[in-house]
Amino acid sequence: MTDDPRLKRLVDLEQHTVIYDQAAPDDESPIRVVRGSQPILISAPHSARHWRDGDWKPEDEYTAALGWFLHETLGAYFIYSRYQLQPDPHDDGDANPYKQVLADLVATTPFRLALDLHGARGDRDFAVAIGTIGGQTFAPYESQLVTAFEQHGFIDQAPTSLDRLALNLGRYMGGARLPTITRFLWEQHQLPCAQIELSAWMRIVQRLPNATNAKNMTSPDFRGDPARILRVLEALTSFLRQILTKL
Ligand SMILES: [Zn+2]
Repeated sequence: MTDDPRLKRLVDLEQHTVIYDQAAPDDESPIRVVRGSQPILISAPHSARHWRDGDWKPEDEYTAALGWFLHETLGAYFIYSRYQLQPDPHDDGDANPYKQVLADLVATTPFRLALDLHGARGDRDFAVAIGTIGGQTFAPYESQLVTAFEQHGFIDQAPTSLDRLALNLGRYMGGARLPTITRFLWEQHQLPCAQIELSAWMRIVQRLPNATNAKNMTSPDFRGDPARILRVLEALTSFLRQILTKL
């Protein structure tokens, strides 16, 4: 399992496509757009550290790798933070740089849908939390997305939180209160979008040495669950493939 080439690829991508703890060089934007060949958009605004409430918040590890993987596998477009991002686009209005780059991209590319990827701590009571602001933002595709995760073993009434799929749960509604990417794309651009929060166990193949929780010695050797990381990867891939075959 741990030598699955897809897991190795995720580690390789995470090592080479994102620098969690550095500012962008003067001649470069912290925000990177990876152009694809298909009308689907993956977003990972917290892939590097991001400034919120007067402090740097830890990166959502491996959301950069996941987006790159979906780009390589399916031809998805991908937008993410390659370097530290200030301000956090989930803690700011619609005029911040990430949302502006997103607006330009959406204006020039006829996307069908977007997925905004995030990371949650490993001690939350879910494996995967899908937020669509109570069903508003992803209506045409929501049941297919839920079914794809269910088919890969993630269900609401799972015996362990490590297999629990939560839909529009409490703080993970996708923007009921915060000015999220999901809310922005749906309300301002009428692009169906779902926020997908993945527990640390579902995405961190192997923590990198410059991760916040490695540098502060909280858990420098954290490794998620390889089988579940692959199930998440397969659920996302099969969902997006279904969409693309119907276009
Ligand atoms: Zn996040």
